[in-house]
Amino acid sequence: MRTKRPIGLLGGTFDPIHFGHLRLAEEARETLDLAEMRLVPAGEPPHRDTPRSPAQHRLAMARLAVDSNPGLRVDDIEIRHPGPSYSVLTLSRLREAVGPDQPLVLILGADAFEGLPGWHRWEELFSLAHIAVANRPGYAPHGRRWPAVLSPELARACDGRRLSDAAALGHSPAGGILPFDMTPLDISATLIRDLLRHGHSPRYLLPDPVVDYIAAHNLYA
Ligand code: ATP
Repeated sequence: MRTKRPIGLLGGTFDPIHFGHLRLAEEARETLDLAEMRLVPAGEPPHRDTPRSPAQHRLAMARLAVDSNPGLRVDDIEIRHPGPSYSVLTLSRLREAVGPDQPLVLILGADAFEGLPGWHRWEELFSLAHIAVANRPGYAPHGRRWPAVLSPELARACDGRRLSDAAALGHSPAGGILPFDMTPLDISATLIRDLLRHGHSPRYLLPDPVVDYIAAHNLYA
């Protein structure tokens, strides 16, 4: 069977980027044997609250966070294109750029995966990329308990798509779903913003250069 190492994509508001995102990206890169792992900061996320920091700050923090790791890169595709950042549009653009045969993998935490039916034209995502789902503290563990914890429409969409292992991601360009394990980290951007708003230190929840950037630009005060 012809195999091509996949390109992984982790979208997020990254407001700010933290070690939950970074471990998710790093562990996905290794576990899924990705040729590339790209972090894609959202421009204007349509399916949640407007980000609290301007895109240029969120992009700068993401770049600082991956600066020392050649295995991760930041893709500013959503910030470069004006208009709402619908994942389906971003993936269509990326699909056009990489061609029809290149496997693409959308990386999601369990919370994002459970919320998928709220996304714009979400069912089209399966024709554009595979989806790999990581556990996240506070959300239902994946794998054996699916589809019991999924909404009926998501369970239906997942039917017949479950891949048995990471190698299967390289056998086709899109359409599979793979749960995978990451080191559980109960960190969220909300937690970090709350700490900062109350004058507490967020250090050791996110990279030092990002902590310094937040202080220098007086974000989330
Ligand atoms: P907020 O608290 O502002 O909602 P967040 O910390 O959830 O933000 P996002 O930018 O919304 O971060 O998340 C981007 C992606 O990273 C999503 O797929 C989300 O599930 C995943 N993710 C974020 N934090 C973690 C974590 N600690 N463990 C696993 N996945 C995570």
